[in-house]
Formats: sequence, structure tokens, C-alpha cells
Amino acid sequence: MIVGRHCINPVLFRKWFCWKPWSKYRSLFSKTGIWENTFKAEKRKEIEEYWKPKIQELDQIGATDPNADKYYVLSMFPYPSGRLHMGHVRVYTISDAMARYKRLLGKKTIHPMGWDAFGLPAENAAIDKGQHPAKWTYSNIKSMKKQIEDLCCSFDWDREIFTCDPAYYKWTQYIFLKMYEAGLVYHKQALVNWDPVDQTVLADEQINDLGCSWRSGAKVEKRSLRQWYLKTTAYAKSLWDGLATVDQNLWGDIISLQKNWIGKCDGCHFYFTIMDGATELPDAVAVFTKQPAAIYGVSHLALAPTHHLNVPDYHTPGVDQTAGNKDQDVLLTVKAIHPFTKAEIPVIVSPTTEFDMFNECSLGIPCLSVEDAKTAQEFGLETVEVFATNGDEEVLINSGQFTGFKKSEAMKSIQEYAKQNNVGGHLVSSHLKDWLISRQRYWGTPIPLIHCEKCKVVPVPYQDLPVELATVEELSGKCIAPLSHLKDWQKVQCPQCGGPAKRETDTMDTFVDSSWYFLRYLDPCNDSAMCDPAAAVKEMPVDLYIGGKEHATLHLYYARFVSHFLYDLGVLAQKEPFINLLTQGMVMGRSYKVRDTGSYLSEDQVDFSGDHPVEAATGLAVDTFWEKMSKSKQNGVDPEDVLNEFGVDSTRICILSNVAPKSHRNWSNEEFRGIINWQSKIWKIVSDYILMKTSGSFQEVSPQLLKQHEEKMFEFRNYFLKEVTFHFEKTFLISVAISRLQGFTNSIRKIPADVRVNSEVFGSVLADFVIMLGPLAPSFASELWAGLGSVSPHTSSYDWSQNVLHQKWPRIDEKYQLPLIVRHQGVEIFSKRFPKTQLNQLTDLTAYEYILTSKKVRNRIKSLQLSDLHFRLDENYRAEFTIPH
Ligand SMILES: [Zn+2]
Repeated sequence: MIVGRHCINPVLFRKWFCWKPWSKYRSLFSKTGIWENTFKAEKRKEIEEYWKPKIQELDQIGATDPNADKYYVLSMFPYPSGRLHMGHVRVYTISDAMARYKRLLGKKTIHPMGWDAFGLPAENAAIDKGQHPAKWTYSNIKSMKKQIEDLCCSFDWDREIFTCDPAYYKWTQYIFLKMYEAGLVYHKQALVNWDPVDQTVLADEQINDLGCSWRSGAKVEKRSLRQWYLKTTAYAKSLWDGLATVDQNLWGDIISLQKNWIGKCDGCHFYFTIMDGATELPDAVAVFTKQPAAIYGVSHLALAPTHHLNVPDYHTPGVDQTAGNKDQDVLLTVKAIHPFTKAEIPVIVSPTTEFDMFNECSLGIPCLSVEDAKTAQEFGLETVEVFATNGDEEVLINSGQFTGFKKSEAMKSIQEYAKQNNVGGHLVSSHLKDWLISRQRYWGTPIPLIHCEKCKVVPVPYQDLPVELATVEELSGKCIAPLSHLKDWQKVQCPQCGGPAKRETDTMDTFVDSSWYFLRYLDPCNDSAMCDPAAAVKEMPVDLYIGGKEHATLHLYYARFVSHFLYDLGVLAQKEPFINLLTQGMVMGRSYKVRDTGSYLSEDQVDFSGDHPVEAATGLAVDTFWEKMSKSKQNGVDPEDVLNEFGVDSTRICILSNVAPKSHRNWSNEEFRGIINWQSKIWKIVSDYILMKTSGSFQEVSPQLLKQHEEKMFEFRNYFLKEVTFHFEKTFLISVAISRLQGFTNSIRKIPADVRVNSEVFGSVLADFVIMLGPLAPSFASELWAGLGSVSPHTSSYDWSQNVLHQKWPRIDEKYQLPLIVRHQGVEIFSKRFPKTQLNQLTDLTAYEYILTSKKVRNRIKSLQLSDLHFRLDENYRAEFTIPH
């Protein structure tokens, strides 16, 4: 049989092949015994079909060394909508490439996957289809799991979790109860955003700029309802400070997004109980102030006219604000109780007071404000001076136990006192709000509280968790709080007095479910703890968290809040849950929009034959541009179609290459041409090598020629290895790593064929290259590896009995010298190489001396000082100066 220019005997070859130890992982070519050096679509398909089940099996074996350092790669878990989209393909491919890379480094990787399975879409779909949300959800999970497996992702399926599983939400409820115990849960009547279509409350962030629900699109209304809140504001300062401890480079602009959300913590709230005669109103009023030290100087509370206490029932008789002067202050009949002195404080609706846009009430402190002094005088209120000057310092007077304190010290002591007495005091910004977690829906985690007429709100005892959702055959239609219609489920004995009581019928916002899932992955089956403390200490924090930027504010904020709380609870050993963060950009589709009508077309409705695209049916001009993929814009691409057409490995490489993970990528199948061309080159290099080795039909080369090429190989192998490793390790720019591997391929191709087969160095260069390909294209690399194994000496430093994915990531040679580079306007203008140890010891000063030896550098630096240049040393990789423009 003639294959290319080499002849082999397939029968003999197969015989020889089969006794090799690595035959356990036979490659496709063993099926035929023939390596062809063309790389067609059928071949790619055959390779993937052959390797997929084997790789899946290998992936479940896990770490070889249980004592190895851990590396926790986490991708945001999906909502089980039923089908993967290209965004999923991108995020899971990035996370899989990173996990496989770390595994090759010998790390014990944690790479879990689960399902954010509660939520409104399941409930709505279930109502529409007349089936239980659980059925809809689990059937979607099944099909999505299959799609994820088809991507050849190495997820730890033994860690799989479902947030709608009672075994999981038992611990969501547990965290809630722990927060309740810590005084972080409260109930409040509030004007909330109401979605009349979905019949539920929405958070502010779930409403778009037009005032419509992000899900149903309905115009959102305001309603006054009693709602449960988590006091996230108590952790504002801790969450703000925590941002200084995360990697500033990798978190990048996420830090400023989080900081904007939290706001500068320059004040605190104090809680005032409100009395209507002898009756305490159910809700205290939280008042923000930047002057906590003046708390003893409060003469009254000032409310904006929009405040919920401003109702005619509470107006002092004879005063009707709606009839009289709208600018007139109104004294209410209710009184506020001073949180420190317990004195009754008048409450005044003050239309003329300026409130900031986030708060509807403020403290009236006459000694600090002329306006407040005027109001106090108007109503004949007692005013108290609380600050006096003592030498150079302001001290507190008339301030109870804080009298005599320096103003600067008093602030801290007063806040501490407030915290201990649960009347506020936590440092916070004026705009940060607590987290409204009540949802009047069925498909969510039940809030584990009980209402008893006698004992009021009673937490469910820990031993009674989980409070399971009521089992219903099906949901009949949308209604407010479906659980409130299930009377039998609601009935419960009060854990405190034993009397009849009712369960809470609101469920939790699904953001609560996803605020701690990364911890559960570490110990998913534990029934006696949310996570084994030893596992939490050993395996947290997450080393790399990958997900969409749209979650950079809320989800991250909530997850960080819960982590800070769990740290205080002693469950976690550090506050911040995520060391590195990689927010991947969106996958965009090409849209076609008719210019005159604005209607969207699918690609096959467009006629491209002329100079400009037009609508095929009408001839109307069509504009094309890139947008987020969506059904309504007809610009979506189904991952399954892409995988069927191009195969898994090419799709993986394609979605990882050319564009940095953080940037949006415009998806076009045209990019496959370049990817497949590259794969074909690699295939040809390896198949030529195997064929020449097995046929023995090659010439000896002179030792000088061999030496000359081996020196080249030493250089480029180390160079590309350093570059690829650097980007996997430090920048997560997998796209750049791929372009370096493409450069590597071109360097390999320049080695003459006879040198390749004669050189042992070439064999190991090729083996290293294939190992580096493994994280990107697992099946393709497995096939190449098995082929190489058939012709490589088994005395070499590789374990040929194992799959390529179980090898060791290649090491940079100790003798390889590393560069000190100078860049100006993005261009490298100077490079000097140093032995590794010497490079690692460079300081900006010693490096500066080296670069000044270059005239070119001196010319560019001109009058700039060392301190004007940016110096960065990445140990074991490079040192770099950047000259500013
Ligand atoms: Zn009771």
C-alpha cells in the first residue's frame, strides 16, 4: 500500500504495535494501521468519536497525587434553560483549557459543574406546559449536560449540585438562619417594584431604563408589601476593604464596578423605633448620617413627603398637608425613640429639606445645621450642643457616656455601641441598600421561618431543615405567592409555644442560592454540614473564577457578602472567595436589518450578489452589524450545528483563538479555515515523522548539521514554551498562547525532514508541542500522542503508557536565557538575555543600567527618569521596561 511517498506493511505494523505497553490507549490509526498525511473532516470526526469516551473515562480518574497543591477553577454555573448557547461554549472551553493545563502541571484541580436550578423561567414554562417545574428543570439539565459533555470538558461530575435539590437548599436555609441569629435578617413593609405579569417583586437591578421588567417586559408598578431583607449594609466596609486584597490586575475594572455599587463608606445608619401612642410600629426607620458623633444632638427626624409614614392618619389634627401649603412642615403624631437615650423624638415631614436621592429621612441636628435649628425653633423643640472646643480639639459634651470623648474617637465608640445594641453603626455609603430577598413565587428555596400569633416570627429549628417545598401536581397559573394557597403545607406547630402557626410563604431570590455554591462543590454530599471545615480551609478560595461580566456587580457582591459572613462564622479561613477573576466577553452574531423597516432577517433571506447586501424578497437595502446573539434578531448560532460541522477540537480552538477571553468575539464560521489549516499542518508534521520512522526510509545527516538544528530547536522550543506558559499562568490570554503555538508549528516545519528523524531532540520537541496542545484540543492531541508513542524510544522522559492529558507540562531548560525587554509605543526596541537566576534578581535599578548601554534606548528615554518608566519583572519569564509615550 502506498501512502504518500512511504511504504509500510499494515499487518506487520499492527503486530508490532499491539504488544506495546501504551496499547491500552490505542489511537485511531491502529484501527487501520495507516497514518495518512491528509487531514479531512471525516478523519477529524473519526478521531473524536474514538477518543471522546476514553477521555471522559480518563477525566474522572482525577489527581494522581492527593497531596498535590490544589487549583480551583470555577465557571459560573448555568441556568438550565434547556440548550447551550455559544456563550456557554466559550466559558466552559476557557475553563476546561485552564483546568487541563493545571492538571498537566501536576496540580490537584477542582473543576466542578452544577445547576442554578431555581427561578422564574422554570415556573412560567411549567405553567405554560402544565407540568411541574422540577420535571421541566431536570429534563433540561439532562440535555444540557449531554451538550457540555460533547464539548469534551473535564468537569468533576461527582461534585455536581442542583440548587433546587432539598439536600442543597437545606444549607441555603441554614445560612439564612445563621444570618437571622446574627441579626442580619429583617422584615419590613416597603414600596417595592411589582411585575404585574410575573406577579412578583423585582429588585431595582431587574428593571431596565424604561421602567420595565427585564424578564417579562411588563411596566413595573409600585406596591407596598412586607418583605424580607438581608442586612448586606452591615458588611459594606468589609466588602469595600476586601477589594484591596484581591489581584488588582486580574480583577481590573471589576474592582471599580464593585466600588461603585458599594459606595464610599463614610457614614452609618441608626435605627429608630417608631411609636404610635403606646404601640410600637412593626418597622424601625433607618436613618443615614455622616455625623454619628452628633447622635446626642438629634432634635427630630425629618422625613421627605414621599416617606411611607407621611399618611393623613399620622398628621397632627388640624394639619392637612394635601390641602394646605405644600411647603409647610408637618409634625406627625408618631414619635421616634432615640436609639441611645430612649427619649421620644418628634417626627416632622419636611418638604423643604433637601434629601439626597437615596434617602427619605435625615437626622435633625440643630447644632450642626441652620436649617435644622430653624425647624426646631418652629416647633419649640429642645436643642442641645454636643461639641465643644477644648484646646485644639473638639470634644463631646451632653453626650451621655461619651461626654468628654475626643470627636475623632467618639465616632468609633458610638458606632461600636450601636452595633452591639443592634441599632446600626456599620460603616456604609449613603446609597447602598439592604438585599431584598423575598419572592412571591413557588420555585425557590422556602424561607425557613414560622409565624405564630403569640411568639411572632420564630425560626425553624436547625434539626427540622430542610423546609421542603410543598409537593404539587402542577401549577395552575400565575398567582401571588403560590405557597400561600397551599393551606396544608402552611400549617405547622410553633416550635416555641407549641401552638398552631403558619409557615412563611415567600421563597428566596435565586441569587441567595448562587451566593455560596462554590463551597458546596467541595463537599457536595455532606448531610451534617454545608461543607467539611477541613475541605473549606484546604480548598478555598477559588483560584480562578470565570463568567460573564453581567454578573460582575450583583452575583459577585452577594457571593462576597456571604463569604465574609461565613468567615465571621468560622466556616471559611479567608474573607474573599475568589483570587482571580476572568470575565469573558460575549459571543456576538452578525445581524441583518432592513434599513427602511428595521426588521431583522436571517442570513438566507439576504442577497449578497450585488455591491451591497439587500433583502432577497424585496430588494431593500440591508445593514449588517454585530450584536449579542438573540432569537429576535435571528443572529444566533446553535452550538450543535457548529460542532456537527467542524468537530469539537476545531470549535474549541476556534473559540479560544484570535480574541482575548475578556473581549467580545464576532462569531463567524469563516475563521475555521485558518484553524483547520493549522491542524492539518500539525497532522502532516506528526504523520510524516511517524511514517519516516516506521519505514526507515531516511538519510543519515552530518553531525554538524544535526548540531546546528538542535541548537535552533533548543532556542525556539524554550521560547515558545516560555511564552505559552506565561500566558496560561499570568495573563489568561489563551488567544496569545495559541498564536505562539502556531509560531511554534512554523519553526518546527523549518527543520529538514532528515534532521527530524535523526534527531532525538526533535522527538522531544514534538512531544512537548503535542502536550501543550492537549488542553486546547484533547482528542486531536491524544491521537497525535498515541501516534508519536508508537515510534518514540521508551527510555525517554515521557510516560508513553499514559494519555497525553496525563503527561507533565514541559519545563523550560535551566540553561535557557530569559529576556530583559524595552518597549516603546508597543514596539520592542531592546532585548538582552540573562540566565534565569540572574534575571530573577534584576531590580529596576540594575535593569536600568543595562538598558542605558543602548543608544536607541537612550534616544527614546531622552530626559525621562527611571521613575517615569514602568518596570515589571515576571520571575522565570521576563523583565520589561515600558517607556511612556
Ligand atoms: Zn408560638
